[in-house]
Amino acid sequence: MTISQTRGPAGWTVSGLLAEIADIGRDDDGSYSRFSLSPEDRSLRQWFISRAEELGLEVSIDPDANIWAWWGPEGPGAVLTGSHLDSVPGGGAYDGPLGVASSLAAVARLRARGFRPSRPVAVVMFTDEEGAGFGMPCLGSRLAAGVLPADRALELRARDGAPLAEAWQDAGMDAGMDAGELGPVEWLTTARCFVELHVEQGRGLADLDAPVAIASAVRPHGRWRLEFTGQGNHAGTTLMADRHDPVVPLAATVLAARRAATETSEESGAVATVGRVEVVPGGTNVIASAARMWLDCRAESADVVHAVVAQVEAEARAAAHQEGCGFELVQESWTPRTAFDPELKATMAHVLGDVPELSTGAGHDAAVIAGIMPTGMLFVRNPTGASHTPDEYASPADCEAGATALATILEELAR
Ligand SMILES: [Zn+2]
Repeated sequence: MTISQTRGPAGWTVSGLLAEIADIGRDDDGSYSRFSLSPEDRSLRQWFISRAEELGLEVSIDPDANIWAWWGPEGPGAVLTGSHLDSVPGGGAYDGPLGVASSLAAVARLRARGFRPSRPVAVVMFTDEEGAGFGMPCLGSRLAAGVLPADRALELRARDGAPLAEAWQDAGMDAGMDAGELGPVEWLTTARCFVELHVEQGRGLADLDAPVAIASAVRPHGRWRLEFTGQGNHAGTTLMADRHDPVVPLAATVLAARRAATETSEESGAVATVGRVEVVPGGTNVIASAARMWLDCRAESADVVHAVVAQVEAEARAAAHQEGCGFELVQESWTPRTAFDPELKATMAHVLGDVPELSTGAGHDAAVIAGIMPTGMLFVRNPTGASHTPDEYASPADCEAGATALATILEELAR
């Protein structure tokens, strides 16, 4: 870990905080793979705890492995901010960590200038926002908000196939497991509001030439797992006519997803992505016995998402049938369209002055929390417009503008 800041919390900058964790989970190509509760993520958690304690905050970990850093007593009526530290495979340095670092920097500034909140303020680091660790995006916030039942979460598995309970115990996060406490965090439902700052994941702010925006809504999105089962066999001795190769309908389905989304995308904003496939057993000279793919689909309206997925499902089923393969489709997650709280948005706009509003196709913990309390989001300009890649970026000056905006909002909400 590079310790680049020696001046104490009053001198913290967002880019300085991010520089401290720049080496954790970085791959050779400059991208980041920081899966939730992996050794890399545990180093990030330690960093968050040590920085929060240096800031004089009281740290607690809930049964869902989310970490909370409290300014004032843990309890009802709180103003919450924060984001996540985990990443997708091969992700960037800003998606998640920018929000956590900006929250710490914003609280440091408010403390340095002698602000005394009249209600508790907490910075949260949510577990497995990307879902790359356990296959369920926003796992920690869904559990804490009570929108994901504990028994459903306990069916999830880590990337290596280990059951969630085992993986969490290995990571020292067994609090909720033995006691069956995994699930809603009681006082969370009595908090006043949540504001998440996030790097923008498109080119909206770059095109508008502005450093910061207020989020209007998150478009609906879901994830589906498609499983094709066939007959494993020898690649050299099995005649073409005798094959039941599940990779063939999988390939047809990847193209079907591209087609289904493209047909409507201009009016509906539909996008469909197959970013993960698994071929079992995965040998060059072996006809596969099973093949899985994951479909991520989003659009302006839920109806369009469901129509695109229904078309993909029909084509997948037909392709599987033609190859003599089995087929199953399982919905792994669904997030409805989330419009952020109008009153909170108005307050944010009032204190920030002339700031643009943007909607996004990316999912966030804030979209989950919006279901149980007034929630808002800030976006910080990403000049490349790219996200979930190492090209994701926010300039030091824009990072500071984001933290300043967040501090202004927290001060207004907690005064
Ligand atoms: Zn994120």
